[in-house]
Amino acid sequence: MACSAAVAGAEATALLCRRPAPSLIAGRNILAVSRRPRHCNLRTGAQPPQKTTSSANYRNRVNFQRDRAGASSDDEQQQKSGDENGLPNIQLEDLVGKIQNTEKNILLLNQARLQALERADKILKEKEALQQEINILEIKLSETGAQSELSTKGMSDAEALEFDVLKEENMLLKDDITFLKAKLIDITEKEESLFKLEKERALLDSSLRELECAFIAAHSDMLKLGPMQHDAWWEKVENLEELLESTANQVEHAALILDGYHAFQDKVDKLEASLGATNISEFCLYLVDLLKKRVKSIEERFQACNREMHSQIELCEHSIVEFHDTLSKLIKESEKKSMEHYQEGMPSEFWSRISLLIDGWSLEKKISNDDANILREMAWKRDNRLREAYLSSRGMAERELIDSFLKMALPGTSSGLHIVHIAAEMAPVAKVGGLADVISGLGKALQKKGNLVEIILPKYDCMQHNQINNLKVLDVVVQSYFEGNMFANKIWTGTVEGLPVYFIEPQHPGKFFWRAQYYGEHDDFKRFSYFSRVALELLYQSGKKVDIIHCHDWQTAFVAPLYWDVYANLGFSLARICFTCHNFEYQGTAPAQDLACCGLDVERLDRPDRMRDNSHGRINVVKGAIVYSNIVTTVSPTYAQEVRSEGGRGLQDTLKIHSKKFVGIINGIDTDTWNPSTDRFLKVQYSANDLYGKSANKAALRKQLKMSSANASQPLVGCITRLVPQKGVHLIRHAIYKTAELGGQFVLLGSSPVPNIQREFEGIADQFQNNSNIRLLLKYDDALSHMIFAASDMFIVPSMFEPCGLTQMIAMRYGSVPVVRRTGGLNDSVFDFDDETIPMELRNGFTFLKADEQGFDSALERAFNYYHRKPEVWKQLVQKDMKIDFSWDTSASQYEDIYQRAAAQARAAT
Ligand code: ADP
Repeated sequence: MACSAAVAGAEATALLCRRPAPSLIAGRNILAVSRRPRHCNLRTGAQPPQKTTSSANYRNRVNFQRDRAGASSDDEQQQKSGDENGLPNIQLEDLVGKIQNTEKNILLLNQARLQALERADKILKEKEALQQEINILEIKLSETGAQSELSTKGMSDAEALEFDVLKEENMLLKDDITFLKAKLIDITEKEESLFKLEKERALLDSSLRELECAFIAAHSDMLKLGPMQHDAWWEKVENLEELLESTANQVEHAALILDGYHAFQDKVDKLEASLGATNISEFCLYLVDLLKKRVKSIEERFQACNREMHSQIELCEHSIVEFHDTLSKLIKESEKKSMEHYQEGMPSEFWSRISLLIDGWSLEKKISNDDANILREMAWKRDNRLREAYLSSRGMAERELIDSFLKMALPGTSSGLHIVHIAAEMAPVAKVGGLADVISGLGKALQKKGNLVEIILPKYDCMQHNQINNLKVLDVVVQSYFEGNMFANKIWTGTVEGLPVYFIEPQHPGKFFWRAQYYGEHDDFKRFSYFSRVALELLYQSGKKVDIIHCHDWQTAFVAPLYWDVYANLGFSLARICFTCHNFEYQGTAPAQDLACCGLDVERLDRPDRMRDNSHGRINVVKGAIVYSNIVTTVSPTYAQEVRSEGGRGLQDTLKIHSKKFVGIINGIDTDTWNPSTDRFLKVQYSANDLYGKSANKAALRKQLKMSSANASQPLVGCITRLVPQKGVHLIRHAIYKTAELGGQFVLLGSSPVPNIQREFEGIADQFQNNSNIRLLLKYDDALSHMIFAASDMFIVPSMFEPCGLTQMIAMRYGSVPVVRRTGGLNDSVFDFDDETIPMELRNGFTFLKADEQGFDSALERAFNYYHRKPEVWKQLVQKDMKIDFSWDTSASQYEDIYQRAAAQARAAT
């Protein structure tokens, strides 16, 4: 529109100024005009352009034609006169032609003028329309306020007035916008605080979950809770109470937040009201609308959050109430359970602690020996009155507890025995080999049978202190004789595997048990003779009425001669001495005068029938123990036979002399520690009826040791041992190569106290470093030993001699078929699968007799054959082995029998 108006304007201007308007006037005719401008001026002269109507146009056209007609008659007259006058006729003709041309031009010009007028008319109309549009645009412009400057130009007074109003409105709008912006910021801030509130709620949520977890943990703890863990239990209750308090604080905090939220809600209401009250333009209303929606959604979120928060708080409060209820229920249940346990005589840990408590009071002279004996017997008989007195003593002073105990002290008798083991090792707190397993395994089994069992150990600096419960030093020092002087000894007590244990810490300058190792010191003879003396001194000073003092191996063999030659003379003679030799290889010999250190009478003892060694002039403590003990045992029947001849390492004659008191009782294994269905060291626990875990453990060990896993059914041969000649080191070495030759895998875990052997095996380990089927781990590693037992398919024990051997039994319990040499305890526990002289149900492994490579090869090859060719038979063998009862139960009963007999003789003698 604006464009066509502009064109129309241009045409009009062109016509008025007589300039050609190229697109509208025929160029040729106009050129004719321009060549003769004077004629044109003559005809159109000063006539101003007029607005013409169509009737006027019509009139003009009629006049023009009339003019033309008049002009034609004039032309004719002029022609006639020219004809009459000669030359002037020619000029006239010329003039008439010119006039005619001019007339034509005038006619054309008139037409053009009329057209121009028409167009001008149209343009004017268009201009008016445009003006109206411009006005609308200007109004719009003024409304936006953005183009106010532009609008001001050329604006009429009325418009200026209107503009002022708009401007004012604009200002108001601006104010409103600023106000709304401020409110928006306020809302954003509120949104942030809403976020914070949500975070708080999440926190509250997580603390609730924490509470639930603690609750579950408390519950499971409660289930596990034995009565001996009362302190721990109360500690947990206290912790839970603390947690409860902190949760209550959080709830309070949440309430505060809620208050804050209410304040915020008020602000939002106010904001809404102020928004409602604001008188604003459409745009403002739009903004208000927008804000209202926003506020509404915030409000909704707020309310949702509020509801959620309330429900969380309610839930939390509910949980707290529930927690309290369950807690008191659990406490009641625990007390009930404890009572039941106590009545059943189950928690040995509890009674061990009571017994240690009584011993402590007795040693600290807080109670008399007689009272201690009565109370000790009550503890040993698991007398409920002691339990009740102990449980109700919480928070009491020690004296009150002692008094309440003494009130109940009534003499009584027991069918059980009071047995004290004095040893150099105990699993798992101080373990070197099988001796450690026997002390805890046999001790636990005897305790289970209703005997009062106590252990006395040296307090080694290197022992596993974390395996001792409730370790504490007694407020007493036991003075003990050594090398002509008296030395103080600290006495520590604690429980290990539920057994009460005394740890002796000598205050001797020799620092006997601060050597970072158990054995292998130059003064071992001195160290252990010292310990044996203090152990007896402790028993003597405690005034205990011990039935059996059981000493083990040469390290505590001193106890037997000391007891009968020193302490019996002091009146400490009711107990009977049992000595177990776990290995006749180690006899503890020394120059005779070394016996004097611990107070033994050298002259009395250095005799061939007493302590002098059978083959040289030294004294021999194992011989002394055989001679001086009431009971002598070794760890398997076959070994007991073997040591009566060559295996006795020079003591065979002494054993023959004392054969009436000598017996071989096979060791058991601790079936709690060695249990594949509960073993925490295993990747997957398993049992005879579910062997999946066995292959999973095999895969895990292979992965851990970076061994080939290409063939799952490739047999894995295991060996865990001290690397000493007794264990058949040359056959172990041979087994590595033989297994490789047979296409199996081999894992050895072992270390050697003999440097040459250690070096030799290090060399072999290097040799097989890049072989993915052989691994030699030359160290002591309890956790790894469990994994190897579980992972291996076969287990070799090619010992030259083996008093009992535990590894073959552990291996069978883990489903690893033993390949062993038929000697000592191996002969009593492993029966060849192909030996038809043995009942099939007893056959459980592969054995060989000759301690050479051929003997070993034949057994290993037979095992490989069954494994590869008769997998079903092999599986049955594995399952059968896993089900054999290797527990201490039977063996402990045998020990109990011989103890009872000895104790009966003692009673008869008094
Ligand atoms: P000995 O008492 O002659 O060493 P036993 O077979 O009677 O042999 O007992 C050995 C005990 O020591 C077993 O429990 C066995 O698992 C463990 N043992 C031996 N060597 C290691 C080792 N290197 N790492 C972990 N445990 C070992």
